[in-house]
Amino acid sequence: MSKTDLIIIGAGPGGYRAAEYAAQQGLKVVIFEGSEVGGTCLNVGCIPTKTYVHSATFDEARQRMGEVVPQLRAGVETILSHPNITLVREKGVFVDAHTVGDYTAPHVIIATGSETKWLPIEGAQTDPRVVDSTGLLQLDTLPKRLAIIGAGVIGMEFASVFHRFGSEVTVIEYLKECLPALDSDIAKRLRKYLEKQGITFKMKTAVENIADIDADVILMATGRKPRTEGYTNVDENFQVLTVPEPAEGAEPVERTVPEPAERTVPEPVEGLYAIGDVNGRQMLAHAAEMQAIRAVNHILGKQDNIRFDIMPAAIFTEPEAACVGPTEDQLKASGTAYTCKKSFWRANGKALAMNATEGMLKLFCDADGVILGCHAYGAHAADIVQEVSVLMCKHTTLSELADMVHIHPTLSEILKSAAEA
Ligand SMILES: Cc1cc2nc3c(=O)[nH]c(=O)nc-3n(C[C@H](O)[C@H](O)[C@H](O)COP(=O)(O)OP(=O)(O)OC[C@H]3O[C@@H](n4cnc5c(N)ncnc54)[C@H](O)[C@@H]3O)c2cc1C
Repeated sequence: MSKTDLIIIGAGPGGYRAAEYAAQQGLKVVIFEGSEVGGTCLNVGCIPTKTYVHSATFDEARQRMGEVVPQLRAGVETILSHPNITLVREKGVFVDAHTVGDYTAPHVIIATGSETKWLPIEGAQTDPRVVDSTGLLQLDTLPKRLAIIGAGVIGMEFASVFHRFGSEVTVIEYLKECLPALDSDIAKRLRKYLEKQGITFKMKTAVENIADIDADVILMATGRKPRTEGYTNVDENFQVLTVPEPAEGAEPVERTVPEPAERTVPEPVEGLYAIGDVNGRQMLAHAAEMQAIRAVNHILGKQDNIRFDIMPAAIFTEPEAACVGPTEDQLKASGTAYTCKKSFWRANGKALAMNATEGMLKLFCDADGVILGCHAYGAHAADIVQEVSVLMCKHTTLSELADMVHIHPTLSEILKSAAEA
């Protein structure tokens, strides 16, 4: 049994960032990866989908994905070649809460990510037309007719990009609106715009049998679930709050992760952390990375000021959408006194010059003018919302924002216009 300072299971954005940061801080790290380094994000998630978004044709997208992904993977391999890091290219199997494979450490970070949530729809597991996002990215030929079950982030991004490649796209969604995390006003406008472009939306529709769907390929985009169950209960430092009670006198059982046991009062299991998608908190790559930093800081006894309550997110449709902070519906439901300022892409000089006039931004502030959040769709909405996230971290007010100089002509002036409205 070899001793080390920190064991990490999974080399996705959560795991490899934790390894990199911990190694830089002088910890000896052993990281287990059962597949390719880079995780879902690099191999079958954020990066491949964004190469699709930025390619003109399906064939170009396939080719670019084949170039970009290995290049980035090589970058992660370089990060993990740090002298303080040992990469073990096999599945991490727990022996006990502090022993994984042949290694033991006072600290273990579980970063095993997530997998597709398959709904129990008749035919979903047997009909060869049904794929998940990974399967869709593996297609060699463009489907003539693509049906997408689920109008969440993954469903909407693929709908937008495959429509542009030339597929006939139908999105089937149980809820009345797409993208539930987005302000419903913004989500509706985006959906209507995509509908005008030619995507068919069947809202408030429950799929009961796959055989009823008339399509060549059917994408199951009904969400993702932690790959390893039992780690959704974590504290603010992402320390796991439950642990298996070791059976008295029992031989250690071989298992990929210890099974959580029911406890009346959950308490942190010292040294055991669950970060990224596996804890189901904020299933985003940048959230996984920041959770990695918090967990390692906690191990090191360091304080940080990471604001996990300010978590921007983007949806890379065409045009893209993005948000940070609560929706207007949530503000109303919580009884918050708020003001909503709006601005439009069509009134912005750069957007007109770019011929990208579709879009609207909603900026919310409280009774004192402090910015509470922003939801938007339109060209480069993610970059604009990113600015709002930074302002929120600094408790900026609308009038302070209105006094900040923005370059002309840029799309960032859309935000300034909202503050001045
Ligand atoms: C199609 C798609 C598009 C996406 N687009 C975006 C986007 O644009 N922006 C964004 O922020 N997020 C996006 N996401 C989400 C993003 O990919 C995840 O939030 C992110 O990858 C989570 O990182 P993670 O480190 O928690 O897990 P993962 O990236 O899933 O990595 C987990 C790693 O653990 C390994 N592993 C699992 N079990 C074991 C074990 N027992 N032993 C050893 N290794 C193990 C896996 O092989 C994997 O490499 C997208 C996801 C999908 C599916």
